[in-house]
Amino acid sequence: MREIRTDVCVVGGGPAGLTLALLLVRSGVAVTVVEKARSLDREYRGEILQPGGLRILDQAGVLAGARSRGGYELTRFQLIDGDRPVLDMDYRRLPAPHNYLLSIPQRHVLSELGDRCAEHDTFRMLAGHRLSALLRAGDSGPVRGVVADDGRERVAVRAAVVVGADGRYSKTRALAGIANRRHDVFDLDICWFKLPWDGAPTGRVRIFRAPSNPALAYDSFPGCLQIGWTVPHGGYRAVAARGIRHVKAQIQASIPEYADLVGRHIHALSDLTLLDVFGARASRWSDAGLVLIGDAAHTHSPLGAQGINLAVQDAALLHPMLLAALSDGDVSAARLGEFERTRRRDINGVMRFQTLQSKGMFSGGGLAGFLRPRVARVLMHTPVGTRITRHVTLGNPRIRVAAG
Ligand SMILES: Cc1cc2nc3c(=O)[nH]c(=O)nc-3n(C[C@H](O)[C@H](O)[C@H](O)COP(=O)(O)OP(=O)(O)OC[C@H]3O[C@@H](n4cnc5c(N)ncnc54)[C@H](O)[C@@H]3O)c2cc1C
Repeated sequence: MREIRTDVCVVGGGPAGLTLALLLVRSGVAVTVVEKARSLDREYRGEILQPGGLRILDQAGVLAGARSRGGYELTRFQLIDGDRPVLDMDYRRLPAPHNYLLSIPQRHVLSELGDRCAEHDTFRMLAGHRLSALLRAGDSGPVRGVVADDGRERVAVRAAVVVGADGRYSKTRALAGIANRRHDVFDLDICWFKLPWDGAPTGRVRIFRAPSNPALAYDSFPGCLQIGWTVPHGGYRAVAARGIRHVKAQIQASIPEYADLVGRHIHALSDLTLLDVFGARASRWSDAGLVLIGDAAHTHSPLGAQGINLAVQDAALLHPMLLAALSDGDVSAARLGEFERTRRRDINGVMRFQTLQSKGMFSGGGLAGFLRPRVARVLMHTPVGTRITRHVTLGNPRIRVAAG
């Protein structure tokens, strides 16, 4: 088996993994990223960056380059009931310069991060390699690296620390024997699809409160609308059993504005991707020689567009902690646990907010209908509402990209 020695092995070259890799190589640390995909031509889900994620990517010096590859600014987040917005959040009211949402293909962000990483001799990317085992000192001692496999050869990557940034179904987490607690608090699933759009970008994220199946829509680069049509959790099979004509009619009823486009561009159930909406938290985010970040540590519902945001913030927070731990030669579970101790409160807060947000925006019923416009007024027109909005969109302001 081929052997590679590095300081830090990052499993997963997504937003969390590549942001951390860049910050570490800039600080002189040798990093090897193990990524199962061979290229960036793969399917991505998350496209919207919140101001808090934009701030971190800007501080890391990659935002302008990622944007130059293409993306759309969105300045309003609206909840539309009937034909009028009951909630209309204007991102321009947040502090500049990151006072907008950015709809950007994830590969634009990852290409920019990857290109900047590749400028450093201490960076190595093992693309097309899957994590297959963790290397430990002894049978059950501290993690000391990974085995990566590209189907032809196995590579042992020996490292002082392994960072699991391999997403919601993290193999690193599973191999470390860390439980993942799934929270099925969202009572809906989403059918996800794009429609070609040759009009001017709408500049908005909109949630259409249809009586049966609410839907969301936003501009997706290049020249598309991303639609998320919701169905009650576990209820898609019954709807789909009635055939594509029935499904199309239901979608058209939810987004009448785009009924014509749906009619012309959706032909089969295979044009829709059904997504299981769930949140989850790993029971612990570290072990001796191992840390989990991003979706591997905490998975978020796509509603509210927080996942990438939180993933890049995780990377910025962990970067100086890892530098100090490596320099002290202490990568024990207690030392690396500092990351979770510092971060868990933020993550718990976002998860609570997302649950309320999902119930508030998507639930039917008399009480939700009564409360919705009142809560919306508080969010839009009171100082408390402004504070909540800032907290959710900007994230923890104390997290910044550290020098060196
Ligand atoms: C439908 C949907 C819409 C979403 N929309 C948004 C949005 O608009 N905004 C937002 O902020 N978030 C959104 N999210 C969430 C967002 O996509 C994730 O939170 C974010 O990508 C997490 O980043 P990550 O780097 O932790 O993990 P990931 O992006 O999942 O990256 C993990 C990487 O690890 C690699 N990998 C996995 N297993 C292995 C293995 N065994 N060996 C080697 N490599 C491996 C994968 O190929 C991948 O490159 C959405 C999610 C869904 C499902």
